[in-house]
Amino acid sequence: NNLKKHFPIKAGIFQKTVGHVKAVDGISLHVKKGETLGIVGESGCGKSTAGRTLIRLYEPTDGNIIFKGRDISRMSERELSRSVRKNIQMIFQDPYASMNPRKTLKSILSEPMITHNMYDRKTREEKLADLLDRVGFNPSFINRYPHEFSGGQRQRIGIARALALNPELIIADEAVSALDVSIQAQIVNLMEDLQEEFGLTYIFISHDLSIVRHISDRVGVMYLGKMMELAKKSDLYDDPLHPYTQALLSAVPVPRKKGTAKRERIVLKGELPSPANPPTGCVFHTRCPAAMDICRKQVPIFQEVKPEHYVACHLYQSN
Ligand code: SF4
Ligand code: MG
Repeated sequence: NNLKKHFPIKAGIFQKTVGHVKAVDGISLHVKKGETLGIVGESGCGKSTAGRTLIRLYEPTDGNIIFKGRDISRMSERELSRSVRKNIQMIFQDPYASMNPRKTLKSILSEPMITHNMYDRKTREEKLADLLDRVGFNPSFINRYPHEFSGGQRQRIGIARALALNPELIIADEAVSALDVSIQAQIVNLMEDLQEEFGLTYIFISHDLSIVRHISDRVGVMYLGKMMELAKKSDLYDDPLHPYTQALLSAVPVPRKKGTAKRERIVLKGELPSPANPPTGCVFHTRCPAAMDICRKQVPIFQEVKPEHYVACHLYQSN
């Protein structure tokens, strides 16, 4: 709720704070148990920062994060690790970067269980065998090292590692973006199977509109640290309301529902402004084909304009 993450900009020999990068600047969203919420936007829109702030890898500057009825936004690290951390796991674009090259698959997967004091040794071994099976690995892989695996296999390891703690929510940040298209499909299918099997909830962050469309139930669109539009997948892709969403979708060949009009390609003028110095009013006004006077002066409210369809744009404000 109204989540913000601003990073200070330091300058000079005394490293004085001279400004702030407003990476995430007041977004509100909710995720329902068992669903996949996609978050899309161009690089630099704040979607990754939002994901990391949601699980307190970054300290929120403002706003609240409610997980299963508890406000975790200011919870102590100790309390977080005791009761929240294992329930929320993250999958990153490059799982290899967070794997110790000198450790075998077995110890990579056992580590989180040991750290969180989960299971006795025997149960851990069983869990390990089960995890390997779930992500499609041969049991003999257990003594291999990270460098012996391909990119797609490493992402399977990343997923297995996240699953080791029986989490309820998984935040995937560009989890398949670095993989070949055919491998992407395999990983996405695996994630969907696991979701069904374990009743997992996903927040799926990606710049790839097609993949997000495939995997998500609802989708949020971010621009310059703000949520521009959030709706059920079909509503967002078939009937986007926000001019930014319309422009984004016009640029990719996504299949249209029968009977919907062909979209003209909307080319946005100008450059992406700096999040250190975002435009006044609607942050999209410098590039919006529909911008009006009020857009420069007043920040549009993110509001529900149709059932479960939220938009931040003066074209739809009802107040
Ligand atoms: Fe465009 Fe104005 Fe809507 Fe912003 S508020 S998206 S500038 S019409
Ligand atoms: Mg990112």
